[in-house]
Amino acid sequence: MKTQSLASKIRSDFSILSLTPHGKPLIYFDSAATTQKPRVVLDALSKFYASEYGTVHRAIYQLAAESTEKYNHVREKVAHFIGAPSSNQIVFTQGTTDAINLVAQSYGSLLSESDEIILSEMEHHSNIVPWQLLAEQRKLILRFIPINDKAELDLSAFEKLLSPKTKLVSIGHISNATGTINPIETIIEKAHGFGAKVLVDAAQSAAHLTFNVAALDVDFLAFSGHKAYGPTGIGCLYGKQELLEAMPPIQGGGDMIERVTLEKTTYQAPPLRFEAGTPPIAQVVGLGAAIDYLQSLDLREVHAWEQELLVYATEKLQALEGLKIIGTAEKKSAIISFIIDGVHSLDIATLLDLEGIAIRSGHHCCQPLMDRFGVSGTCRISFAPFNTMEEIDRFVEALESALSVLKGL
Ligand code: PMP
Repeated sequence: MKTQSLASKIRSDFSILSLTPHGKPLIYFDSAATTQKPRVVLDALSKFYASEYGTVHRAIYQLAAESTEKYNHVREKVAHFIGAPSSNQIVFTQGTTDAINLVAQSYGSLLSESDEIILSEMEHHSNIVPWQLLAEQRKLILRFIPINDKAELDLSAFEKLLSPKTKLVSIGHISNATGTINPIETIIEKAHGFGAKVLVDAAQSAAHLTFNVAALDVDFLAFSGHKAYGPTGIGCLYGKQELLEAMPPIQGGGDMIERVTLEKTTYQAPPLRFEAGTPPIAQVVGLGAAIDYLQSLDLREVHAWEQELLVYATEKLQALEGLKIIGTAEKKSAIISFIIDGVHSLDIATLLDLEGIAIRSGHHCCQPLMDRFGVSGTCRISFAPFNTMEEIDRFVEALESALSVLKGL
């Protein structure tokens, strides 16, 4: 199988996969939480710190000049990767959460009492709480798109929520808890019909789907480096130029200023306006290596292989008695959440860990979604292209053994 060879081809890129936790070969099924790092990213970080490291923007000496060039080059790379017309539209943030908070506090400060923001019931807490904070500060109204029993957005309900009062729709591209791929093209088109802006939370899609922000005509888009083979502590916010230009800074400090006097400060143009302080220089360099790696993989091939894994694992899990999959959308990414009658998800994850299998249990930072399905948490497995059918077989066998222990069979 051509795609199977993708997994075998890239497994050796991830040295961590040779670990044997509890004496068992590691099966890493938690890429939705954070991805493991390929050697090229580790090498780029260590080379940068060992022989290229210097500050950016401020100094004249050679190390700093080269660091600055590398740093700026990654901004270009990100712009190219997501189809942004200009690298000035890429703001480096700490991650998706930081990017959404930036839009909430900065763009949000331009909104007025009774303006409305639409989110959905399936959002990650980082795409709910920043808006709740803003809504309280500015007396805004939040509305939520309901979801159906398959965990798909109810688009006709969405259309009814839209009105001239809607100023922003902020929506996840892919749900981290159910894997649902949302129809962002339709959402953007409908929201724009009412003059509302759209923010897409691409935390779960950046490493799994191809997209182009210019073609989508999306207003803001956020993603995290650590979920796309890059380091922690770095993410990106894309914004349309005219929106970023109209937005005030929300953090003050070095680098974001044009001129400071004791009375008054003028600010840099975006993106620097939003990047106060010494930035995460090495993390940016690592992100650049991660993007090179992703581009070397061909995301279409990645998606095809992950879909095969998804279908195979779904069929095997559905055959288990008492197991229910939460999230059965027509369009899904390689994430499966499930519950099992009479068994706590934490107990399952604990027993699987003893078999070297890393899965997640809990609410996945989606408590409103858990409430919608009447559960306190689920077990979640999520795949990367290095995962294999054999790993799924071993996981299902281990799950069956865990269930017989937990059910006292
Ligand atoms: N949105 C989604 C859909 C996510 O899955 C996550 C991370 N689990 C986030 C936002 C937040 O990302 P980060 O913690 O990297 O800021």
